[in-house]
Amino acid sequence: MEATRQLYWNIGEKGLMYLFALLALAIFIIGIVKKIKRWKQGRPIVYDNLGLRFKSFFSAIVKHDLEVFRGTFRRYMHLSVFYGFTVLTFGTLVIAIQDHFGIALFYGNKYLVLSLLMDLFGLMALIGIGMATYKRYIDKPDHEDYTFDDALLLVLVFAILFTGFILEGLRIYATDDPWSLWSPVGLFFSTVIKYFGFSIKAALSFHSFLWYFHMLLTFGFIAYIPYSKLFHMFASPLNIFLRSYSPIGGITLIDAPSTDLINIGVTRLEEFSQKQLLEIDACISCGRCQKGCPAYISGAPLSPKVVLHSLKRHSITKNSVFRRKENDITNDLILDKVITKETLFSCTTCGLCEDKCPIYIEHIKRIVDVRRGLLSVDAGYPAEIQKVFKNISEVGNPWVQRLDAKYYLTEESKIPILSKIKETEVLYWVGCYGSYEARNRKVSKVMFKIFEKAGVNFVIMGSEEKCCGNSVRRLGNEKLFQQLALENINNLNRYKFTTIVTSCPHCFNSLKNEYPQFGGHYQVLHHSEFILELIKAGKIKPKGVKNLKVTFHDPCYLGRYNSIYNAPRDVLNSIPGLELVEMKNNQSKGFCCGAGGGRIWMEDIQEHTISSLLVKKAQRTESDILASACSLCLTTLSEAVSDIDSDLSSQDIAEILYDAL
Ligand code: SF4
Ligand code: SF4
Repeated sequence: MEATRQLYWNIGEKGLMYLFALLALAIFIIGIVKKIKRWKQGRPIVYDNLGLRFKSFFSAIVKHDLEVFRGTFRRYMHLSVFYGFTVLTFGTLVIAIQDHFGIALFYGNKYLVLSLLMDLFGLMALIGIGMATYKRYIDKPDHEDYTFDDALLLVLVFAILFTGFILEGLRIYATDDPWSLWSPVGLFFSTVIKYFGFSIKAALSFHSFLWYFHMLLTFGFIAYIPYSKLFHMFASPLNIFLRSYSPIGGITLIDAPSTDLINIGVTRLEEFSQKQLLEIDACISCGRCQKGCPAYISGAPLSPKVVLHSLKRHSITKNSVFRRKENDITNDLILDKVITKETLFSCTTCGLCEDKCPIYIEHIKRIVDVRRGLLSVDAGYPAEIQKVFKNISEVGNPWVQRLDAKYYLTEESKIPILSKIKETEVLYWVGCYGSYEARNRKVSKVMFKIFEKAGVNFVIMGSEEKCCGNSVRRLGNEKLFQQLALENINNLNRYKFTTIVTSCPHCFNSLKNEYPQFGGHYQVLHHSEFILELIKAGKIKPKGVKNLKVTFHDPCYLGRYNSIYNAPRDVLNSIPGLELVEMKNNQSKGFCCGAGGGRIWMEDIQEHTISSLLVKKAQRTESDILASACSLCLTTLSEAVSDIDSDLSSQDIAEILYDAL
């Protein structure tokens, strides 16, 4: 006798099943189509490199090698449910195909192997659900992200799997199935049923009732998927497939020079890109972005996760059939109604949220796009920011400092100006902070001395160097950024030089990564890289220091944005007698100083500033110096250090090195 079993045993008429199946499928498809329509309202996206995309997509799905699954418990929990349901769905499809098309798939060895696999993988899924329940309600019962939807889904999936096994047990018991050893879990349930003395008649009646209940649960579950958190099973992989492969912190690029700058931002949902609308549905609410966000931790009114959730709620209301038609346009506006200005301008664009998001959601693009939307609203920007924009556009720096402040710097140090020399080896890009801000001017002067000591032929641009526009761009003023970029590029392109060296990672990021879009192609080095080259070439030799303990803060725009982690550490490690101690979270997980994204020009309203939180982390290392390699970090950290009762000082790596020469 060939191994098989009767499909839809003890069911009789299947009409009701088809009706519910069609209904569930229709509700499911309507839900999916609605989502896709919502995404398609956005700006079209371009994506290339399909080979790489497919490779990392399959690796993420098949191997579950995503960051979110680090730690074996979470990974095996998700793998069990994922593969459990994949095999069960495959088995159910085989049964449906045989039943409808008469193709004999469920026979002989194929039947035995598939029966065994469905049983074992079903059990695996059940164990996975148990693990998820443990994680949620026993291990971390107070987690703020758990919703009713989470609990409902767990109960629903458990009920589907459990009733499925009971049905199998009842069938094996009532039919005395000769192949039952190939369905070990079903056999176990059949033994239990027998143990409790069920009569065959009772087993048949209960099976018939339970089968309809199981069917309703399963179809209800399928219909519910697009409307529940479970929709992430489609949206998250799609988001991983469409992820950006550029470094963290990328922003939406605007054609240069844009002719339509006034309409480049986002004021309504449909002005986001299709990918950004997909992200709203792809978020799995894991909360990692929020947990890592320095603004959120400091008590500022910003959580990247909540921003996404608010946009999701807005998108559901906006697309609801019950939505009132009047005042639609006003109701559609995102700013103030969905994201408040306080939230919008709390972001430092540090990129920690993007580093932590397991499915590569890009938060900074969204924040900057909505900030850009303010360009079309009169007096939309906070007053202090409007003042900074005015100063920069009138005199080229944020503080209305007279341009000859740079000449003062030059005269005092006798530094040649590029416009007079015309040709040089190194152009030192001083930056607004290095030129005008007292603490950073000391670093500029130290850099001049290091250049002189190493015999480097260098100049500065003097008044021809305008603000690089990095923070202006992050604040959303693309128009002013492009003006600054074009003016700087125009000035730079008139001269000959080999390398631009700068101490500020914000200037570094603009010059290296953003000016090429506008025709400015230069070799740009951060001062940590250049100093390291000088040390390696033997042009400067640190003599050493006496028992100096230093901890290094990775500036966001140097580390996360440009992956420069080793150069500043190598410079510090080249100093004999200096002990470099790492903070608990460093490199790509390093905290933020609170100054990026234009925050340096805004007042902190929260109780703890981000810089003070960073200083506390540095204090735990018991270091003498909190080192950084960024003009903005040095500004905020020097202030924060002066507010605490401690011997800890804040210094740039160039200052530490110069003291050791
Ligand atoms: S970029 Fe930084 S401050 Fe902004 S939302 Fe992300 S983690 Fe928070
Ligand atoms: S945005 Fe990413 S990190 Fe944040 S909750 Fe969603 S999935 Fe998690």
